[in-house]
Formats: sequence, C-alpha cells, structure tokens
Amino acid sequence: MLIDSHAHLDSERYAGDRAAMLGRAWDAGVGAVLSIGIGEGPAEMHQARDLCREFNGRPNLPRLFASAGIYPHSTPDADDAALAKLDSLLAEPEVIACGEIGLDYYHEGAPHDVQKNGLIRQLEIAAARKRPILIHCRPKEGHTDAWDDLFLILEEYWTGTGLGGIMHCFGGGWEQARRSLDIGFLVSFAGNITYPKAQPLRDAAARMPLDGILVETDAPWLAPGPNRGERNEPAWVAKTAKFLAELLGKEPELIAAETTRNFHRLFPVQKVVGN
Ligand SMILES: [Zn+2]
Repeated sequence: MLIDSHAHLDSERYAGDRAAMLGRAWDAGVGAVLSIGIGEGPAEMHQARDLCREFNGRPNLPRLFASAGIYPHSTPDADDAALAKLDSLLAEPEVIACGEIGLDYYHEGAPHDVQKNGLIRQLEIAAARKRPILIHCRPKEGHTDAWDDLFLILEEYWTGTGLGGIMHCFGGGWEQARRSLDIGFLVSFAGNITYPKAQPLRDAAARMPLDGILVETDAPWLAPGPNRGERNEPAWVAKTAKFLAELLGKEPELIAAETTRNFHRLFPVQKVVGN
C-alpha cells in the first residue's frame, strides 16, 4: 500500500470524476491520501475536510485525511477571521496537519515579510493544536534565500514543539534535505523528480535514509515522467515511488512499506488505510 502525502483533491479539475479518480488510486494500491486544504485562499480552507466527510466510509476508495492552511501567496488574507477558521479546522479529527504553509520567493506575490508573519502565526496555531506542518518552500531561481529564512523561522518557532512536519514537493539540494532531517522533518518527493532538469534533486534523493522519505503527487500538478503536462492524480504516486525506488536501489514494495510507516510515525493516531 502507498500513501499519497499531498494532493489537492478539492481542485475543480476533479469536479467531473472525483469518485472515479479516487477509485483508480485504490486500484493502483493507494491506501490513503492527504488532501490539502488551502483552496484558492482561506475562504476555501475547509474543502479538503469536506471531501473526507463525503468519501470516507465508501468501499474501495483510499482513506482520506485533510490539512488546512494558508498558502504563502495567500498570507495577505491571513486576517484574524482566517486564522480563527484555521484554528477551528485543526481541531477536527480529519484535519491532521497544518499546510501547506511556508515561503515562496520564486513567484511574484505576497511580500516576503507578509509571508513570514503569516507563517509564524500559523506555526503558533498548529503548535497549540499539536498538528504537524506541511512546508512549501521555493527560493528564487539559483538562490537558497527562502530555505535560509525558513530554517531560521522553524528553529525559533517550531523545532521545540517536537511535532515535526513534511517538506512537501522537495526541490532543494542535499544541504536542505539534511537540515530538514536534522530538525525532524520528512522529505516528500513528487513527480518533478522525474523531469530532465532535476538532476540535483535526484542526487539529493539518492542519499536519503529510508526513514526520512515520503512520496506524493501534488496533484493535479506535476504529473510524473511521460505524463508531464497532463492532469495528475493520486494513482500516479505509484510511478514516482517506482522511480524513487530505482534511484535508491530498492524494491518498490520496500519504498511503499517505508513511506507508509514514515507517514504513520508522523501522524501516529491515524493508522487507517483504505475504507
Ligand atoms: Zn501543494
């Protein structure tokens, strides 16, 4: 069984076939999916939770879990009402993580200080609710600026909680991967690891310890390998897991078992796989 640790199941691109898409994931061996609750902004943070309520309990579908969070470029909307909504969502049993949150200096959008403040306020809420965090970190091309700022903030506001988290859709090098492991984070690999220009990422992945890895789709984006550019979906996490297994010189079954174990270590109260 595989777990897709990051998919935007609330995307309107699944509006026409969401149940069938989840059925294909089950058929591909995906036992659980962490559905990311950022929507197009805080007003839609509850949508991933709603999908858990809609689909859990139906046979032959993966078990769904949800997150809630305010994406870096949505932090200008992180007002008191949005943060109160986040706090109440994190209190719900299906909402096992806060994210994706973090810093994005790659795209034009929210000013860096607004992103940092939004991140810090969400770290405080997640810590109080004892929810691990899902980090999105994207530096300016050719720089490590966002990573450097991120680690400073995590060391001040997060590592002391012992709650850990996931570096989602990891795109850094070995230095950032090692620092993530050092502060108790799991490093999650997505379909972009298969892309031709991603050799530095593959080099970092090949050095990862098995107890530090996860796999994800980031669906509907980042379809792996030959499907690049198509709508991605959780069934295809199996392709990324297979690719990662080859990089690490391991059997795909072992990667599935290790990533599932790692997910359950981070989220220890949630051992359910499948419905
Ligand atoms: Zn995402």
